[in-house]
Amino acid sequence: MGPLDELRVRLAEGADLRHAAGVLGWDQRVTMPSRGTEARAEQLATLGRIAHERFVDDEVGRLLDACEPLVEKLPYDSDDRSLVRVTRRDWEKARRVPTKLRTEMTREAARGHHAWVEARRTSDFASFLPYLRRNLELRRQYVDCFEWSDSPYTPLLDDFEPGMQTTEVREVFAVLRPALTEIVASAPEVDASFLTGNFPPEKQRELGERMLATLGFEEETWRLDRTAHPFCTSFSNRDVRLTTRYQPDDLESIWSSLHEAGHGLYAHGNADSLTRSSLSGAPSLGVNESQSRTWENLVGRSRPFWEHWYKPLQETFPSLDSVELDDFVRAINRAEPGLIRVDADETTYSLHIILRFELEQELLEGAVALEDLPDVWNARMKEFLGVDVPDDARGVLQDVHWSGGALGYFPTYALGNVISLQFWRVVREALPDLDAQLAAGDPLPLSDWLRDNLYALGRKLTPKETIERLAGSPTIDPEPYLAYLREKSAALAV
Ligand code: ZN
Repeated sequence: MGPLDELRVRLAEGADLRHAAGVLGWDQRVTMPSRGTEARAEQLATLGRIAHERFVDDEVGRLLDACEPLVEKLPYDSDDRSLVRVTRRDWEKARRVPTKLRTEMTREAARGHHAWVEARRTSDFASFLPYLRRNLELRRQYVDCFEWSDSPYTPLLDDFEPGMQTTEVREVFAVLRPALTEIVASAPEVDASFLTGNFPPEKQRELGERMLATLGFEEETWRLDRTAHPFCTSFSNRDVRLTTRYQPDDLESIWSSLHEAGHGLYAHGNADSLTRSSLSGAPSLGVNESQSRTWENLVGRSRPFWEHWYKPLQETFPSLDSVELDDFVRAINRAEPGLIRVDADETTYSLHIILRFELEQELLEGAVALEDLPDVWNARMKEFLGVDVPDDARGVLQDVHWSGGALGYFPTYALGNVISLQFWRVVREALPDLDAQLAAGDPLPLSDWLRDNLYALGRKLTPKETIERLAGSPTIDPEPYLAYLREKSAALAV
């Protein structure tokens, strides 16, 4: 067996371990009885440790040294050359963090999560403070494992957006913030009262599954389950697990399911040749999120999509019989400032993110004292969105991310919004009949195009290379996103 085969086998075993852990994680969040938590944490820790130890082994470095000359003449995006290049980067990064620190971070993240659940329930920031302090301290130690030039935030960001600098995100957000504030300030009032009502979950599930089945998943490659906090995971491109939740008094499950289906289509569209390798998945969370946003918003809130689906929706929920399609479309596209990030609309959503991005940098640099965090949060919410925060549960304690020390994650959501529109411009040029296809209930030309041009690539290219390949430039450009929101806002005002 040559070195390339040896490397492939080793990475395939690593992928098997990761996906086995993924099955355990899915089970934990979807079907496991809650008292299985402790044993499950040990099982996941063991699998994670074995996978990590096998990966950072010196032998992987020797194999990479032996493989590099063998692949250098191959095309840049060939499977083999990509595998060696991407693995080299992953390997060098993984080796920088001492096992002791990694273990400590995992343990404190679990403790922090536990404390956060209780603190959020009782809206008691003080009880969460020591855990936040400890997790932040560990993140500073983690940052010290890396070199950075612009901001200590960059190594944290790099875990989710490989190769991105903090200054790049700052530049994008500096354009977004005033523009979004202006759009929100001039947003017309839209009647959405009919979106609250009696929507039996069983009927939501039935309609939702019908919708998802049209999006481009092959049969017997996916399933949809209920969970408290929706997510998507996959164990191969033929085993995609979507989750959603149903509230009996609203229809949010539709867009939440479309969102997770966007992640699922990405995984499903990975080329078969990337299965059991380190190249499956997406190049970054932002690029991945661009696709969940595409299916949730650009498709799922568009008039053409509802030209097809509004009738089935009315048949399912007769309370909508008296609501015109145009009024429904206006209601699902309105912009309205609120307290909670996950409930936010497309326009205000990124403002929630920019607030967190600024605070994370200030926390990391020590510019904000931790005990002042709730006050600072509340003041910023007033400044950014004009809302008064009634308690910390609906303020600084609302998100899970900081409980496990996951700084650097939030910006990817807003970048996903921005990137989705950069790609969408290209999609619309490539598919001039897209609106008619969606109106006919046929999103397959769209999902086929996205699969062939984006999803199939997996992690072969970096985020920048991927964006450049599709959009023609590696730069993250907020203008298409803003133009889309402005156009939408103008249409609502009519
Ligand atoms: Zn998502």
